[in-house]
Amino acid sequence: MNPCNFHTHSKYCDGRGELREYVEYALSLGFSALGFSSHAPVPFENRFALKQEDFGTYCNEVRQLQQEYKDRITLRLGLEIDYIPHILDDFSHLVPHLDYFIGSVHLVGNPNEAPDNLWFIDGSKREVYDEGLQRVFKGDIHKAVNAFFSQTNAMIDNTKPTIIGHFNKVVMHNAGRYFSEDDQWFKNLVAETIDHIAASGAICEINTRGIYKKRHDDFYPSREILKYMKTQHIPVVVSTDAHDPENLDTFCGAYEFLEDIGYKDVVTSI
Ligand SMILES: [Zn+2]
Ligand SMILES: [Zn+2]
Repeated sequence: MNPCNFHTHSKYCDGRGELREYVEYALSLGFSALGFSSHAPVPFENRFALKQEDFGTYCNEVRQLQQEYKDRITLRLGLEIDYIPHILDDFSHLVPHLDYFIGSVHLVGNPNEAPDNLWFIDGSKREVYDEGLQRVFKGDIHKAVNAFFSQTNAMIDNTKPTIIGHFNKVVMHNAGRYFSEDDQWFKNLVAETIDHIAASGAICEINTRGIYKKRHDDFYPSREILKYMKTQHIPVVVSTDAHDPENLDTFCGAYEFLEDIGYKDVVTSI
């Protein structure tokens, strides 16, 4: 098996380091492929995404590296694009420039509220999750988690991502406080999203970042969900969601786990 990673940030968004540093480190690890997936530009002030004015420079730099290293490693130009209803729900201005993209939900809207009133479910701060849950959903965790998965399903159906990013990440800051992943209503939402993934033909990532950042004790999606996904024949790719060159091979036992549960073919080229 040739290791690879298609979920890679850098200095262009909220990561650290030059693209070339990632390529050189990937080569030293014996990678066959590396895909760059900066956070796509979003139309509001923020500190995490690629700036719209840097999009062309980013694309050009990946294309140049692709040429330069073409005999040594397969490089791919991608983005991790946030699906936000009414704000960023049409990716057609971005996709034609790319080799692939990851579709992810980090900011959740409430259909009954203003579109820019958003619940941020990611990041390092649990209090931000708790504050957003109150502000956007008046503390109604069922409504909030339902909205997270409906938004994910709409993204899958409407934008057809190549890879679905960390599709249960809403559990990270929950940390067992508001609901259990064993609750039947939660399992039903997960199963419904897996139906959407299956119908779209997308690849689902197994994201290891929660484990090596010590923010969560399982992959996104979890081991239990992965066992179910195997029965539904969902193709999978292992993603480290690197924000530093040194994160590139933090696979955290994902390949071994997938083999244990019977996944014979893990995607290693896109
Ligand atoms: Zn993400
Ligand atoms: Zn990411």
